[in-house]
Amino acid sequence: MDELCGFTFEEFALWMERAGEKRFRAAQVFDWIYRKGATSFEGMDNLGKGLRERLQASLRFPLIKLVSIQDSKDTSKFLWELSDGKLVESVLIRSFDRRTVCLSSQVGCPARCAFCASGRQGLMRSLSTAEIVEQALHIDRYLKEKGERVCHLVYMGMGEPLENYDAVLKSIKILNDEKTLHISQRRMTVSTVGISPMIRRLAGEDLSVNLVLSLHAPNQHLRKKIIPFARKYPLDEILTSMDEYATETGRDITYEYILIAKINDAEEHAVELAALLKDRQCTVNLIPYNPVEGLRLERPEKNAVSIFRDILQAKGIRTTWRYTKGDDIAAACGQLALQTAETPLIGVGT
Ligand code: SAH
Repeated sequence: MDELCGFTFEEFALWMERAGEKRFRAAQVFDWIYRKGATSFEGMDNLGKGLRERLQASLRFPLIKLVSIQDSKDTSKFLWELSDGKLVESVLIRSFDRRTVCLSSQVGCPARCAFCASGRQGLMRSLSTAEIVEQALHIDRYLKEKGERVCHLVYMGMGEPLENYDAVLKSIKILNDEKTLHISQRRMTVSTVGISPMIRRLAGEDLSVNLVLSLHAPNQHLRKKIIPFARKYPLDEILTSMDEYATETGRDITYEYILIAKINDAEEHAVELAALLKDRQCTVNLIPYNPVEGLRLERPEKNAVSIFRDILQAKGIRTTWRYTKGDDIAAACGQLALQTAETPLIGVGT
């Protein structure tokens, strides 16, 4: 059975035509789900009963079911159950009038970063295009009731987006379309652990999404220890592919650096990082490690973070420093779904 939210508008219009229907019917269905918040075909009262029944019988929608919403001051964590019973999460981040949704691209993650909760269970499976699109769609519907809408997307939830390349790319195109949520690509950000061939491929797609590399170390030797997955991809190749992305798209590149006490937060790491990124058009985003239960890592003192930042800035590297939002509900990216994943519901042994 086809997944409704896995279709671009053009594909769905063709699908309708093949089913012997007029093209405008496709626009009506998209209007119902992406604008009017319909969650079933039943209520689409400008479609005939026969058509509604045929759609119901041949299209899967909705695919993901809301299990719970956990609110904190400026974030809300949405837990979804997929049709095979697996669980995945998204986070809504409120900042002034900006509403950002952090999307998951896989259940679990193959990267197994030392500081991250998502990778601890390993990769279970990739999400389909529709499972990614529906996270944004249902949160947008939730916001509409409050007169708000999703305006930014970050692919920073569970999983490695570039390991699920086709579905992620298609979800970008669908969510960007004016017949859906119409979110500007400039307001979308893909965050990757660094898969150089896939970064180069993304650079050739004629997109204008922002790209973030989860760097976390100033050299390959230390990086491999923090990110076992990085063994396969030499750092110099990753940086070259990031440069290529910046040149091809004209978008700024961000390097994310999680500071972990006594591992990668020393002054010499900052000096080495500044040398690595010298003359590169980029911003470094420093994030103090957000404690994950069961991991014996520590967040650095505030002072260590500001010394690290000052060294980078003195060497001309643009640096931002954000406090991770949502610690109180474990909604920080990388802390998603583990708590529930440890219950027998989906039978994962960690
Ligand atoms: N696989 C992709 C996207 C998912 S992780 C990637 O590696 O970029 C996205 C981000 O989650 C990481 O860069 C990191 O900033 C954040 N993250 C994960 N675990 C964290 C933790 N314990 N503390 C702070 N940030 C964390």
